[in-house]
Amino acid sequence: MAQGGTLAHTSRLAEQERPNLLSHDTRQLIRTRLEAEVGRIDKEAPTRVALTYPSPYNVAMSSLGYQVVYRTIQSLPGFACERVFLPDEGDRPGASIERPLSYEGLRELGEFPIVALSVAYEIELAGLVRMLDASGIPVLAAERDEKAPFFLAGGPLTFSNPLPLTPFVDAIVMGEGEELIERCLRIIEQSGSRREACEALAAVDHVFVPSLQGETLPKPASCDNALLPATSVIRTPHTELSNMFLIEAERGCSRGCTYCVMRRSTNGGMRLVAKETILERVPADARKVGLVGAAVSDHPKIVEIVRALAEREIRVGLSSLRPDRLKDEFVEALKLGGYRTLTTALDGPSERLRDLIERRGREPHYVLAAERARKYGMDCLKLYLMVGLPGETDADIDECVKFVTELSRIVPIALGVAPFCSKKNTPLDKMPFAGVRTVEDRLERLRRGLRGRADVRPTSARWAWVEWVLAQGGAAEGLALVGAVRAGGRFADYKRAFAALGHLPNGDGYAGLATPIAPERLRLKRQLTVVGGQPVTRP
Ligand code: SF4
Repeated sequence: MAQGGTLAHTSRLAEQERPNLLSHDTRQLIRTRLEAEVGRIDKEAPTRVALTYPSPYNVAMSSLGYQVVYRTIQSLPGFACERVFLPDEGDRPGASIERPLSYEGLRELGEFPIVALSVAYEIELAGLVRMLDASGIPVLAAERDEKAPFFLAGGPLTFSNPLPLTPFVDAIVMGEGEELIERCLRIIEQSGSRREACEALAAVDHVFVPSLQGETLPKPASCDNALLPATSVIRTPHTELSNMFLIEAERGCSRGCTYCVMRRSTNGGMRLVAKETILERVPADARKVGLVGAAVSDHPKIVEIVRALAEREIRVGLSSLRPDRLKDEFVEALKLGGYRTLTTALDGPSERLRDLIERRGREPHYVLAAERARKYGMDCLKLYLMVGLPGETDADIDECVKFVTELSRIVPIALGVAPFCSKKNTPLDKMPFAGVRTVEDRLERLRRGLRGRADVRPTSARWAWVEWVLAQGGAAEGLALVGAVRAGGRFADYKRAFAALGHLPNGDGYAGLATPIAPERLRLKRQLTVVGGQPVTRP
């Protein structure tokens, strides 16, 4: 095994052997990216696995989970992986893509015996369908013969609802897969047929085989704490996080926000990585470090960690900042670590709705955050907000306008707004989508109210509805997505495909799902919800 360097050469040789498989631009792009990577593990082994991500390279290489699976496979005797990504621009509606090839060996997906697939979000399923179609592999697992690769999936989507993924794969590792990957790969490698592999995998805890287990999902796995922290393997300038070394400062969350799939996670809470371990694991040549975790600002030593890194002249980024944790000394440490924008979650547009979804952030926390952002010379305070929450009215939006206006007098405000999509495995599961028209009206009300006071950046209400249909759906919605992607993958194509199942963007919600639940009933619903077999308790 060798660290970096030689595989770009291997890739060039493969390129010469297969000149017709790639356009000149793509060939050049892959070469440039491989040559810029630091830390890649170059390896040859008898069994090659296509480590596949249904989003483009820059997204995949920013995923710590993807990098962990990469390291795990490269450390297994007898196995080596090559990375395959959704070609750039392939995540745009209406995109048509080149045949995806592995970066390391320029091999097609169909040449690998095993495809290990990581899926983070519902909308990435469209990327998967595009990749399969472009590869000439039957999209449906049930239509593949023994010559086709075995598709083993995993990733963040398995914490909420992987059912729409089931038509496309043979087996799914639920939850934290670190300890299950080797066992699953060896079973697949040693099985005489797809059927034999499926039967053996179905007997493994936390592994879901849709063809044998229907829609009964096993519990997500929780890996041994000794395997923490996850860290980057490959650093590259060609990602959003450009050359950033990622390290997990904690895993899971001890809070109980009712819309969130990470609430108390699979292991019932937050697992901390010691400050000393974090500081030791950061490579001496790292100039940018990302501290990753669902609730990383809840780490009790977070201020000391950020300060220690800043003293080593390392720029620091955190994956999440809770508003009630933004104490003076913490914001000062962030400034030392290179922060220019202080980012946190406002979540609900009003105190009433923040209370309903059990966010601990309150108006005084945001006022203090704005004052500290100004005190430490930040460019702005960025707040993330959801609209379309259950029971929301225009009055909640008006309260938000009033409050954000107050904050904008302290420091410039940027508001990132996303429509609420209820997820399975949360207390707000089965909550209807507010409706595309309603969400667009609320976004417009917000934009109008804050014109000239805050920079409002909303995400699309239409695509949020598509996400919600898939988040609440099953195999039928996954199959409908195939029709939508093949029809062009525009919103109108999804609307038509989902209408056939009874889902309407401005309807009362999901055909056959729960009727809207009144806000005052949410608390009762929450108390009765069971997560991971344990009754939910208040934080
Ligand atoms: S604090 Fe964040 S990660 Fe934790 S439950 Fe709330 S939204 Fe989820």
